[in-house]
Amino acid sequence: MSARHDVYIKFRRALKTLYSDRELEQLVRIYLEDKGLNEHLDEDLARLSDGEPIQYITGKTIFYGLPFMVNKHVLIPRPETEELVHVVISDLKKSQTALDILDVGTGSGCVILSLIKHLPARGMAIDVSRGAIDVCQTNADMLNLSVETKCLDILAMDIQINKRFDVIVSNPPYISRGEMALMEEKVIRHEPALALFTDHDPLIFYRRMFDMAPNLLKTGGCLYFEINEFRKLELETLVGQYGFEYTFHKDVNEKWRILKAVPNITHQLF
Ligand code: GLN
Repeated sequence: MSARHDVYIKFRRALKTLYSDRELEQLVRIYLEDKGLNEHLDEDLARLSDGEPIQYITGKTIFYGLPFMVNKHVLIPRPETEELVHVVISDLKKSQTALDILDVGTGSGCVILSLIKHLPARGMAIDVSRGAIDVCQTNADMLNLSVETKCLDILAMDIQINKRFDVIVSNPPYISRGEMALMEEKVIRHEPALALFTDHDPLIFYRRMFDMAPNLLKTGGCLYFEINEFRKLELETLVGQYGFEYTFHKDVNEKWRILKAVPNITHQLF
């Protein structure tokens, strides 16, 4: 019997109530590729059977074709977020000049680093979490990409970002506490709440970025957001109140997932 088969049998025994046979085969493949046969197998199986995602155990994932380091300070990048990146790249790949892009709530840096990799662009990445900023910086170094990182709270009244951007991109927390019941337990238990949930106002991050857009965007600049599939109507009303032009995109699952907003900054007040 091969060692691989022995590992599969162990995985199956420990995890059969959590994962299908196909998922188990994938898990074994990922595990052996990333960690090989090692003395932590039993410990890792205990973490997996507690519902911890494999990416936190291997410390790695792939996003938009690039390898990223992840840990408990950051969300595991989602396929929907690859679609956000794809929309931004499709819109801007013909740009003749280097774009300045700001990523708010960068987490692992998967969004900004993928954009910098594929566009003529310079990036700034901010996050309220020091742990996330460290992960983003590590990923930038590993990918040999340059990004300016800052630990900042976008909601803080005295925030100072003394720069203007062509693009602001963000996948902010957008799940209200009431929506927890719809989520997988393993997400709630293992991924950082700070990256997922909003307190009272589920649109607070969008409101804040719309408010700041005139001071943060260059003329002709625009915003791209990942959104909660259930908040499209509210966001449409909100973005309309700001008088911005906007487009929504669905994800592959036919869920409203991406909002592009373009403020009419024709003249600036300074
Ligand atoms: N889409 C993510 C999830 O389902 C949430 C991402 C976010 O809150 N920005 O867990």
